[in-house]
Amino acid sequence: MPTLSRRTVVDLPTPALRGARRGPQDAPQAPEALATGPITRLVDRHGRTVRDLRLSVTDRCNLRCTYCMPAQGLQWLPTPDLLTVAELARLARLAVEHLGVERVRLTGGEPLLRRDLEEVVAAVAGLRTRSGAPVDVGLTTNGLGLDKRAAGLREAGLGRVNISLDSLDPVEYAAVTRRDRLDDVLRGIAAAQEVGLSPVKVNAVAVAGALEERAPRLLAQCLRSGWQLRFIEHMPLGPRETWRPQEVVGRDEVLRVLEQAGFELAAIGRPDRRPATLWRVAAGEGAYGAYPGGSVGIISSVTAPFCSDCDRTRVTADGRLMTCLFSSQETDLRAPMRQGASDEEIMRIWAQTTWGKPLAHGTDEPWHTPDGFERPSRTMSAIGG
Ligand code: SAM
Ligand code: SF4
Repeated sequence: MPTLSRRTVVDLPTPALRGARRGPQDAPQAPEALATGPITRLVDRHGRTVRDLRLSVTDRCNLRCTYCMPAQGLQWLPTPDLLTVAELARLARLAVEHLGVERVRLTGGEPLLRRDLEEVVAAVAGLRTRSGAPVDVGLTTNGLGLDKRAAGLREAGLGRVNISLDSLDPVEYAAVTRRDRLDDVLRGIAAAQEVGLSPVKVNAVAVAGALEERAPRLLAQCLRSGWQLRFIEHMPLGPRETWRPQEVVGRDEVLRVLEQAGFELAAIGRPDRRPATLWRVAAGEGAYGAYPGGSVGIISSVTAPFCSDCDRTRVTADGRLMTCLFSSQETDLRAPMRQGASDEEIMRIWAQTTWGKPLAHGTDEPWHTPDGFERPSRTMSAIGG
């Protein structure tokens, strides 16, 4: 049975979530068909269909990014609790071959800390979607050690990669991650490009007080290097004391900083239900040198959440199904797998849990306040960002 726990509610300036509360018509009980009929897709009671699986392969990490983890790290899961390659492969197979998932992203923690990551990639990349297309396999990583493994991962079938990089200044990078590893990351990004992983995206968390110095230089370099930069709004998913609603740097502030630094931006929109809203950037020259045209994205999960067309499902490294990053409910898939459940039984649990996916993050808990925002019990690295 999923466990429910009470969380701290904090105020959040998210008008987009107002009015998205549960009404009496939204009873979360799954319909009869989900109890007995064939399971062919993952759909929730608000009509959204899952197409994207985030599979976390570990909760461990070799960095300590301030917005994600405390300096001393976290209590890691014992190794026997982690899903094995066979279990990860089985869940991916069910999702892709039977449940309509088209994209699988491997994440963590730091996925490169798993020595068998290439095996996981190979198992997932060998799958075909129901329409016969190869599945789109991506990796989200901090890039440490990617220089040595990019070729093997590519060969195993990895398609695309997102690499976290908040600053190009070694001192600032070390201040954010609490480790002096900027050169390693840059080597990892170069290797990813060399072996043909495409696109190479760079993720940077927009943190209060640091944007003016970091963002323009990062964008100019990303445009020159052919990396697609995405700013992510700071979410309340790290150490509790590091997030305050009044300090969230929203999309408008990121745009203001970039435009003030001389970038000419034109809105593109949010293609293909992806989380990032994109802007075209005109070629130009500024304080950080000349740069070609390209694009930049902003993932505004806090100030403009995209819950209404969310198509994701998540499985933590210990096999807990989470229908939303901010979910207060987890459903154990590992125990039934280890107790011998059939594929059909696993898919039925997955489908029934999906049916109860909240309409928007935190907004349909019984103890929720109208504008409140709840923190999940796990932090980002333990869920799989
Ligand atoms: N270790 C890998 C990495 O850093 O890319 C994968 C896991 S990490 C949890 C996935 C993404 O979550 C990273 O891009 C990171 O910047 C982002 N992230 C972590 N904590 C966050 C927070 N509190 N708010 C917004 N994004 C966060
Ligand atoms: Fe590790 Fe990624 Fe979290 Fe940074 S954001 S501490 S690299 S899991």
